[in-house]
Amino acid sequence: MDASNRGVLLNRLADLVERDRVYLASLETLDNGKPYTASYALDLALTAKVYRLITPLQLEFMQRLNCKTAKEQSLALQGDFLCFTRHEPVGVCGQIIPWNFPLLMQSWKLGPALAAGNTIVMKPAEQTPLTALHVAQLTAEAGFPPGVINVVPGDGPTAGAALAAHMDVDKVAFTGSTEVGSIIQKASGESNLKRVTLELGGKSPNVVFADADMAQAVEMSHLGLFFNQGQCCCAGTRIFVEGKAYDEFVERSVQRAKLSKLGDPFNMETDQGPQIDEVQFDKIMELIESGRTEGATMLTGGSRHGDRGFFIQPTVFADVNDDMRIAKEEIFGPVMQIMRFDGMDELYERANKTQYGLAASVFTKDLDKALMVAQGIRAGTVWVNCYDKFDAAAPFGGYKMSGFGRELGEYGLHLYTEVKTVTIKVPQKNS
Ligand code: NAD
Repeated sequence: MDASNRGVLLNRLADLVERDRVYLASLETLDNGKPYTASYALDLALTAKVYRLITPLQLEFMQRLNCKTAKEQSLALQGDFLCFTRHEPVGVCGQIIPWNFPLLMQSWKLGPALAAGNTIVMKPAEQTPLTALHVAQLTAEAGFPPGVINVVPGDGPTAGAALAAHMDVDKVAFTGSTEVGSIIQKASGESNLKRVTLELGGKSPNVVFADADMAQAVEMSHLGLFFNQGQCCCAGTRIFVEGKAYDEFVERSVQRAKLSKLGDPFNMETDQGPQIDEVQFDKIMELIESGRTEGATMLTGGSRHGDRGFFIQPTVFADVNDDMRIAKEEIFGPVMQIMRFDGMDELYERANKTQYGLAASVFTKDLDKALMVAQGIRAGTVWVNCYDKFDAAAPFGGYKMSGFGRELGEYGLHLYTEVKTVTIKVPQKNS
C-alpha cells in the first residue's frame, strides 16, 4: 500500500478515535485511574492528533528527500553510474508500551510505524490493556488489512520478552523503565540484532530563576510534577530555584499543592486519582520515608489519602540535597523536590549530575539565560517557560540512560525506515 493510502487509513482511525472519545476516555480512566477530565481533554485529544498529523509529516518528509515517487533520492556518484536511495519500512515492529499513558503511547508507536509502512505486534502494559484493544478494533474498522496491526496483551517477562528475543521481529520500540530497557537491548544483541529504540526513565531538572514570572513558574512546575499522579517519565522532579526566589517559590508551591482535589477519578472536580497499583504505591511511600529520614523538610503531604485505593497526598519536600535518594531516584509519584542554587556553574554541574537525560525546563524572562540553560543541560527536550508541551511534529527521547532514538517528528519517522542504496551501471554519463 503506498504512503498516501496509508494516510487515508490513519485519518480514518483519527476520525474513529474522535467518534469513540467518550467511550475511550471512560475506559482509560477505569483502567488507569487518571481523572476523566484529563483522559477526555488531554489523552484523547492528543491521541487523535497524533494519528491525524503523522501522515502529512510523513509525506513532507518524503518530499523533503526530493522524491517524485515518495521515496527516491538520486545521488551523483563518480563514474558511469546512476544511484538512488529508497526509504523502506523496517519490517515487523514489536512495540512494548507502559501503563501511564496507554492510549497516547499507543499512538506514538502505531502512528509513525504505520505511516512508514511497517507491520506491528504491540504489547500493552499488563495493568492497562483495555483501550489498546479497543483501538485495535478501530484499526480493523478503519480498513487496515488483517495482520498489519496485532495487539497481544501479556506480562513483560513472557510476552514482552518473546518480542524482544524473536528472530522474525525486525525492530523493538519500547517505553518503560531503564531496567527493562537494558534487558531489551541485551535480547536484541543475543538474537538477531533487531533495531531498538528506548524511551526510559528520567529525573528531569526544572530551573527557576528569580526573574521568572513567579505565578507562571509555580503553576507550570506544579503541573510538570503532579500531572498524571506524578507518573510521567519527563516529570520535573528536581526543581532548582535561584536563592533569591527560593522562599517565595517554596511557599507558593506548597499552597498550590494543597489545592489539589483527590478522589473518584470520574468526579469532574478531581485533580488527582490513585496511583496505578500497590507496587507503585509502596515504592513511592518508601521513597517519601527516605526523604524524611535523610533530612529533607516535608512541608505538605507525605501520607496515604483516605483508606481505600492507592491515593497519595501531594507531597512537597524543601531543603533537598543532591545526594538524597529522592533527588536521585525516579519516584513516579506525586512527590516534589525543591533545591536551592546560586550561580550558573553550580547549576549545570548539579542539573547534569544524573544518569538520566530525558527532559528539562527553565523559567526566566531573560532569553540569553534560557538559551544558555537549554544548551547546557544534557537532555532530549528542554521547555522554556512551559512544561509538557508535546506535538506530533516535535521529536521526543532521551540522552544517557533515558534511552535513545526519538519518537514523533521527522526524526521519529527515520527510525521506522531502512535506507537502501541502489547503484546502476549506465553505458555513459554525459554530465
Ligand atoms: P516496566 O518497564 O516494567 O514496564 C513497561 C513495559 O515493559 C510493560 O509493557 C511491561 O509488561 C514490559 N516489560 C516488563 N518486563 C519486560 C521484559 N523483561 N521484557 C520485555 N518487556 C517487559 O515498567 P513498570 O513496572 O510498569 O514501572 C516501573 C518503573 O518504570 C516505574 O516506577 C517508572 O520509574 C518506570 N516507568 C517509566 C515509564 C516511561 O514512560 N518512561 C513508564 C512506566 C514506568
